[in-house]
Order: sequence, then structure tokens, then C-alpha cells
Amino acid sequence: MKGVTILGSTGSIGVNTLDVLGRHPGQYRVVALSGNSNVDAMWEQCRRFVPACAVMADPGTARELRQRCAQAGLRTEVLEGVAGLETVASLPETDYVMAAIVGASGLLPTLAAARAGKRVMLANKEALVMSGRLFMEAVRDHGAELLPIDSEHNAVFQCMPPGFERGLPAVGVRRILLTASGGPFRRTPLKELAAVTPDQACAHPNWVMGRKISVDSATMMNKGLEVVEACWLFNTTQDKVDVVLHPQSVIHSMVEYVDGSVLAQLGNPDMRTPIAHALAWPHRMDSGVAALDLLDVARLDFERPDAQRFPCLQLARQAMIAGGTSTAILNAANEVAVAAFLEGRAAFLDIPQLIAAALDGIAAEPADSLDAVLAADATARDFVHKRVERKAA
Ligand code: NAD
Ligand code: MG
Repeated sequence: MKGVTILGSTGSIGVNTLDVLGRHPGQYRVVALSGNSNVDAMWEQCRRFVPACAVMADPGTARELRQRCAQAGLRTEVLEGVAGLETVASLPETDYVMAAIVGASGLLPTLAAARAGKRVMLANKEALVMSGRLFMEAVRDHGAELLPIDSEHNAVFQCMPPGFERGLPAVGVRRILLTASGGPFRRTPLKELAAVTPDQACAHPNWVMGRKISVDSATMMNKGLEVVEACWLFNTTQDKVDVVLHPQSVIHSMVEYVDGSVLAQLGNPDMRTPIAHALAWPHRMDSGVAALDLLDVARLDFERPDAQRFPCLQLARQAMIAGGTSTAILNAANEVAVAAFLEGRAAFLDIPQLIAAALDGIAAEPADSLDAVLAADATARDFVHKRVERKAA
């Protein structure tokens, strides 16, 4: 019986994780759940899974959840804030931690799971983008296991030979090919992009996801963050990570070998496949995902991404090349710009402009300590907030 903590259990990945766990009650025990402020969703999850601990990042909602648990006689202990998240990421009863908080808020608890030597099932790509070196060192130094949940990286992991940690040339791999759907605006006339709304940006053609990652998919910053993520996970450089548009989202990514072989992982676009893979690894188990019907899919298309339409992809590569805290600046600027877009305080096309301005205007430092990373994150947030306010004024 493996104990599982889910960081971000009320979100899209969290709910899918509980769905998979619910199919294997004899093999996994839900030790802890966490959410931000959605107390109703968390209360329902607590009633169903009766975890030992539940964390609400927001203290006010933690109080309310505590009252509901007490009234119902539920034995779940309610914790709060970042300290609570770090506690449940490192509990002795927890073997596996699903890191599915969105954005920079996931960094400290995900790092706590790595430092506690857990199996870290990483959905929270922003943590790795911010502090890839520190995070990978923590995994190595504390004997943690790192399994990618992001569908592309999970696919690459499945196609990689053993020993890839030593670098791609050592195992005969030439390059990684990340697939990208192109999001909802792949064919939208460029002049119409200026006026697209948050709901249009969140209407992803193939995947149902949280709103932040949905906007990232529309700008293709999601793929930019994934290029950075791939560099850290697979010990390579951004020039060895290519991006191919593949509108059907059936091939989740590929690995090209020096002998000309290309291995791909295919499946229906459903996050329960990578989640079940990471939970069961190195074995396999049912995820609830329907079998892929290739005759139904009928065709697989590929295109080169349009650099003019998707400038965020190049911004991410530029930040990875610059190194140090550049990727933390990239991530923070993107989070603030996307939040402003979702709240109607910035236009869709402001997103890449705000990120480019932050990368140009803030000097990168070596990313050799958590303090340096968090300082860069704070500086970039402040920088973009001020620009958004100035524009709105
Ligand atoms: P979501 O918005 O649906 O859920 C986010 C979760 O994080 C929720 O439980 C929310 O309560 C919690 N949360 C938000 N802010 C918080 C804070 N400040 N402190 C603590 N908890 C907080 O997002 P999602 O789509 O599930 O994505 C989660 C992560 O997984 C993201 O990093 C995303 O990039 C990654 N990811 C998601 C998908 C997908 O299909 N949804 C695919 C690949 C990667
Ligand atoms: Mg992905």
C-alpha cells in the first residue's frame, strides 16, 4: 500500500489523480490533499477519501474546513498555508507526492517533497522552470524519484533508454521532439488575435485544463516552459529539444536516436494515462482511459510552429540560453501577464510584450540559491504589475 499526497487536489490534475486512485483502492492510500480556497470541493474530497491531513493554502478557508470536519466527526487534520503544504509533502506516511499546484506557489512544497526523498510526480512545470538546477540537485542529493506528469515529458520518459541522466549522447539519443497542438488560435487570422477573450483562449481543442495552462497553450508559452522543463528533466540543452505542431494530440512526444529511429508514445489526450504511468511505474495499471482507436483518428498531421504567431516559444528559448534566474523571470512575468489577461486588465498580445520587457529590463543573476530564485520571481512580478497598472491608467 503506497501513501499518496496530492498537492493541488481540487484542480484539473488533482481531480484526475483521485479518479485514477479511486480505481485502485487496495494499492494506494490518500494520505493528504491540498487546495487553495475552494472549500466546497475540498470538503467533498475529504468526505470521500478521508485523508489524514487536508491543507488549505488560504487560512480563512482552512478554518471553515476545520469546522466542517469537526461537525461531521471526520478525523482529517486541517493544516494551512505554505508550512502546511510543506508538511504534507514530507509526511513519513507519504511515499508519492503529486505536485499539481499551478504556478510558482508550487515550488516550495514540491522542493520539500524532493528533499524528503519521495517519488515526485511532477505536473507543476513552473517549479522546474524557476529553479531547475536546485530542484534536480535536491532530487539527486536526497534520493527522490522524479516522474514527469506533463504528457509530453511523460511520453519522452517512456521513449528514453535507461541511463539518460548521463546525457543524451551517452545513450544514443540525437534530439527530443515535443508535440504541440497549437491551441485554439492555430488558424486564427493574426489581426484577430488582438481582440481574443479569456474564454476563447481557454477553449482548448483537445485538452480540458486549468485556466492558466489553457492560456499558456494559446500563446504557446506552455510549449516554451516545456522546452525548459525537458532540458532539466533529460539533462540536455534547448537546441536538442524541437517543437512540432501536431493538431490531433495523439502523439504525445518523440525521441530521435542517432541510428535514425524515432520512438513515439501515442494515446488519447487524457491526463489519466501519464498519472497512472507515474503511479504504477515501473509497472502498468488501468487508468480508465479508452483504448486509442487509430482508425477513428485516421490521420496524423505535423506542421512547423509559426514564430510570428507564437513569440513566447522563442522568449522561453532565449531565457534558457541566458541561464541563471532568466527562466524564473520568464515564468513570473508570464504568470502575472496571464493573470492580468484573465482578469481583463491586459490584452492577449500584451502577454509576450510584457514578458519580453521583463527579460530585457531585469538583469539575470546566478540561480544558485533559493533566495536568488525567489528574489528574481518577486522582481519580475513587481515589474510586470507596474507595467500593467501604467497601461490601464
Ligand atoms: P488548476 O488551476 O486546475 O488547479 C490548480 C490547483 O492548485 C488547485 O487545486 C488550486 O487550488 C491549487 N492552487 C492554486 N493556487 C494555489 C496557491 N497559491 N497555493 C496553493 N495551492 C494553489 O490547474 P491544473 O490544470 O490542474 O494544472 C496544475 C499544474 O499541472 C500546472 O503547473 C500545469 O502547468 C500542470 N499541467 C496541467 C495539465 C492539465 O492537463 N491540466 C497538463 C500538464 C501539466
Ligand atoms: Mg504538456
